[in-house]
Amino acid sequence: MNAVAQLQKLKPNLSQGDIYSDRVCSLFDEVPHAGEAVAISDGIWLLRLPLDSVLDHINVYVLADETGWTLVDTGNNTPACRTALQAAFDDGLFAHRPITRVIATHYHPDHIGLAGLLCDRGAVFQTTQACWLHARWLQLEQRDLPCAQDINFVERVGIKGVELAAFRRRAPSNYSDLVLPIPYAYQRIREGDRLKIGSRYWTVRLGYGHAAEHATLWSEDGFVITGDQILPGMSSNLSVHPSEPDADLVSEWVESCRRFAKLAQSETVCLPGHNLPFTGVETRCKQMIASQAAVLNRLSAHLTRPCTVIDCLAVVYRRQLQPHERGTMIAETLGYLNHLHQRGIVKRELADDRAYLWYRANSLDQERRVCFDNPEC
Ligand SMILES: [Zn+2]
Repeated sequence: MNAVAQLQKLKPNLSQGDIYSDRVCSLFDEVPHAGEAVAISDGIWLLRLPLDSVLDHINVYVLADETGWTLVDTGNNTPACRTALQAAFDDGLFAHRPITRVIATHYHPDHIGLAGLLCDRGAVFQTTQACWLHARWLQLEQRDLPCAQDINFVERVGIKGVELAAFRRRAPSNYSDLVLPIPYAYQRIREGDRLKIGSRYWTVRLGYGHAAEHATLWSEDGFVITGDQILPGMSSNLSVHPSEPDADLVSEWVESCRRFAKLAQSETVCLPGHNLPFTGVETRCKQMIASQAAVLNRLSAHLTRPCTVIDCLAVVYRRQLQPHERGTMIAETLGYLNHLHQRGIVKRELADDRAYLWYRANSLDQERRVCFDNPEC
């Protein structure tokens, strides 16, 4: 039985017409409550955990294993997430069996933050090598003040004056604020690995751009757990980090989405890290690629005069941003500019105040538009 048919068995009021189109269709009419577990199929549950941020939840997935539960992603190390997870596994629906395995799709705190707690209780930790190394490295980077590279990074994007002075004095948020110590020992998962979890086999497919070696899990009966690599209703964040300020994450991410679009069948059910399960994975991948191309074209059309990253924020996000909400958006906008720069569409120069000024390499009448429809483009 394919994944959609299994879901229909559990939720008979799903609309047949919507499910079998290739449009992006949510498979839930109601949003689960924080802490609520929703059965997806025999041996698969979505467990929604609360987050204290603009994004107010994460979906983790509970898979029935031979002797207990495999948990895919964990939530971050906050009282709200810990409490919800412990309620489900210590007292609730899953209390009668142990968590035997934790799989982290990627190193971001909301996906890996409680792995240490669960592995201390005996669960095996499985993730990609890049995820494990990155998470362990970030936990070594504990700082009371920004380092020289952090300051360099914010100067390059155009932060100056009072705001720069405040940044120099402000304690940065540290990875370990939301992540328990990452388990010292792990089992590495690689591209193409087949993981037997209960009665199902899941094939590991790795994505890039949002996080290095982001694991996605594809079951033989048509489910795919995608973490943050493929999301409905929002774009995957492609933020450049000060440790690799020239990174072109857009190219990596588009390449991954093209691969995933080909892997998906029309009835594949996507189980994402945020928002609700849906069908139409191929369409969703193409939508996400098209929306990235639209942002890149809007940005390059704007750069007829030299601009800093800060100057570009309103063009990318189509509204004025307040300083307190700009952090991730600055990192993402830099990623767009890096992509245009590495394709030769824009150039950059270092100004006297140490900010990069970005501008179009050609005039508008020689416009080169970004189009990801053609893999050669
Ligand atoms: Zn993430």
